[in-house]
Amino acid sequence: MSSLNIIAPFDGWCAPLDEVPDAVFAGRLLGDGLAVDPTSGIVTAPCDGEIVTLPASAHAVSIRSPHGLDVLIHIGIDTVQLGGRGFDPRVKPGARVKAGDELIRFDLNVVGRGAKSLMTPIVVTSDGAVFQNRRGTGLVKAGDLLFAVSIDASRPATPQPLPSDQGVQQRVVITLRQGLHARPAALLARRAKSFGAQISLTAHGRIADARSVVAIMALGVRHGDEVILRAEGDEAAQALASTLAGLEEAQRMELTHAAAAAPEPSPADRELEDGARKDGELSGVCAVPGFAVGRAARIERREIEVAEQGSGAAREREELDRARSNVRLRLERVRNAGGAARQEIISAHLEFLDDPTLNGRAHEHIAQGKSAGYAWRGAIRRSIAALESLDDSRLRERADDLLDVEAHVLLALDGEARPMHLPLPEQAVLLADDLLPSELTALDGRRLVAIALSGGGATSHVAILAAAMEIPMLIGLGAELRKIADGQTLIVDADRGTLYSAPTAEAVAKGRSEVEARLARGAALRQAAAKECHSLDGTRVEIFANLGSVTDAIAAVASGAEGCGLLRTEFLFIDRETAPTEEEQAQAYQSIANTLGGRPLILRMMDVGGDKPLRYLPLPAEANPALGLRGVRTALLHPNLMRTQLRAALRVQPFGVMRLLIPMVTDLSEILAVRRVIDELAAELKLEGHVSLGAMIETPSAALTAAVLIGAVDFLSIGSNDLTQYTLAMDRGHSELARRTDALHPAVLQLIAAAAIAGDAAGKLVAVCGGVAADRTAVPILLGLGIRELSVVPAAIPALKRQIGGLRIEECRELAKRCLHLGSATEVRSLIEQALGDGGEIS
Ligand code: PEP
Ligand code: MG
Repeated sequence: MSSLNIIAPFDGWCAPLDEVPDAVFAGRLLGDGLAVDPTSGIVTAPCDGEIVTLPASAHAVSIRSPHGLDVLIHIGIDTVQLGGRGFDPRVKPGARVKAGDELIRFDLNVVGRGAKSLMTPIVVTSDGAVFQNRRGTGLVKAGDLLFAVSIDASRPATPQPLPSDQGVQQRVVITLRQGLHARPAALLARRAKSFGAQISLTAHGRIADARSVVAIMALGVRHGDEVILRAEGDEAAQALASTLAGLEEAQRMELTHAAAAAPEPSPADRELEDGARKDGELSGVCAVPGFAVGRAARIERREIEVAEQGSGAAREREELDRARSNVRLRLERVRNAGGAARQEIISAHLEFLDDPTLNGRAHEHIAQGKSAGYAWRGAIRRSIAALESLDDSRLRERADDLLDVEAHVLLALDGEARPMHLPLPEQAVLLADDLLPSELTALDGRRLVAIALSGGGATSHVAILAAAMEIPMLIGLGAELRKIADGQTLIVDADRGTLYSAPTAEAVAKGRSEVEARLARGAALRQAAAKECHSLDGTRVEIFANLGSVTDAIAAVASGAEGCGLLRTEFLFIDRETAPTEEEQAQAYQSIANTLGGRPLILRMMDVGGDKPLRYLPLPAEANPALGLRGVRTALLHPNLMRTQLRAALRVQPFGVMRLLIPMVTDLSEILAVRRVIDELAAELKLEGHVSLGAMIETPSAALTAAVLIGAVDFLSIGSNDLTQYTLAMDRGHSELARRTDALHPAVLQLIAAAAIAGDAAGKLVAVCGGVAADRTAVPILLGLGIRELSVVPAAIPALKRQIGGLRIEECRELAKRCLHLGSATEVRSLIEQALGDGGEIS
């Protein structure tokens, strides 16, 4: 074992990785080490070695020691989004450096303002490192020892890239705005490491081991680049699928982070800073970026009074239980009507409400003669005191949630509910010492332009809620904030962490123009994302998203989805002991419809049974579940379950956005049976107008009789995943057959063509919602066969729209015709890949 000393790359405050406000670093997904909060802007080499990666954005650098250990320095959190602003690299990848040599200079002010945090992780990303002499929390100077790493000489050598002609593989276009930087690379590597299979990533003609973060980063994959993920060996197909899921997770994380990303300050912004009176500037911390001009509106929290003595333990316990159950009902109602952020927060509050420790403590106080309110408050405050004694700021911020739950219950004990809407003037800048999540949700968000708090926490739930409501928020503005009079005109520049409490008339005018300009920029961006999709020769193609939750719907809208082409409603039915009620389903469907904001929502009836068994539904054990009771067959066998779902679906408002889709259809009788039930329920619910109904084409029988089926429905949607498994007689989850279960097999294409021809003859839409719709090689064939609606995972939408924009339908038709008569999926793929240019267009 040899040992390597890692020294501090700059002066600052040294802390454990747990204090880094980022789950990837704090969770040590990239590796172990320490963090330093810098007080100087010169990054020096932490050891001798070779620079392995230093991206164009220069926000991170990794160095390989002569022993072969990789050390990553990631300057601040979320700094990749600065696109290089504030960073000045002093070396290039490949350079050999000595410990203490200058690597990067950065502007502490610029980077500090644009970053979520300046906390800089210094981590060893290679496996098998053993740490010694790790420095404790406190001041550190550049060059001081941070830790020593022992290298286990017996650790396996860096795995070799795979040979190119083996294993299963998938091409993926990277839609991450910043390409494969540290965070997504860590997510990919974590997935890849959990399998025995060898997984590689190829880009720009180079191959990297997908288990190595540094190797992935060194590929320099950027937004829009195509990479090939390849797996070989044990469970190769599962490993590939899981690693791909890692990429999707990274994309979702990026969407969440995008909400908190600070935009580039505009020239008006800079001028404003100079124009404002210095003595009217309050400086705080940006919790939600943005810029606003408005009038101060202060809300004061009323302390709820409670009597100490109770009137008998039994009665007080009963009172507490009653109050808790009233709050529970109310919170559940609010949760189901809200967006994803609100749902998550209220779910946490519901957990607190039923927390056994809290309730146990409250009951102890009651047993000592205290009132229910006094007991509840006592239990909550004890937990808050415990949280506040912790070193972890994120946990301390959870105290707000406890206070919120305290107030809910105390008011319910008083027979009062928390008011749904507190009065606010127009264009209000809300001023408060602190704000609870329920206080924010009780405000009319349309009147609120910004939030400014004396205290508060950047990762508190109220900040997450404000981000979801797109309301700029500054925290930590201190006691000075209390001196601002109600009604005073304020400028809140959350991006720069500044509140201007006494701006000049000129600064206010400039601020208003800045608000206008930002609104216009935001609208243009949304418009570009939401642009309709047309082929190069002008044919309209609708791009929808496949969804399974409200969170997916948020991602879909942000990615430019024109609607939901497939809501897999199974998420409501599986993994539970009892069937979801009509009410629960109606609320879930309505939340998704609300999130889609009027876009069509194609709701697929539950596709359960087979490989998705339900604990509360006695289905016989089957030797061949894929060929047994599943999809519409299960629904028809359990009419009550089906009726409950259909009633809930038919309640979605406004009428007409929701369209129903029947899964696993094999013949006309199934469609007619479902249609009868829909018509009955629509009459019961007094619905006026036609309920749009579609059939999935997932079985060869449905594809071959599509011309008959289409007469009984309004549209068809091709589920290529099942259609492929049933056509090729290959289990879609079979790892050995994964490479051959390919929807581009000419037999599957002929069945897709049959459905498309039936749709064309009937003048009805035929969509594709199976995985093939997001396959770049398949897209020209599907368009060539006449498909005009594709429904895909939200993350694939921007790339798909771009690809279609470069295709000519006539050329697609020609290609598709040739594919129908080839002998295998491999032949189809090579024909199309030869024809496709780099951007996915036909060249
Ligand atoms: C399909 O089979 O292609 C489909 C979209 O349905 P699922 O993947 O949910 O079975
Ligand atoms: Mg299916």
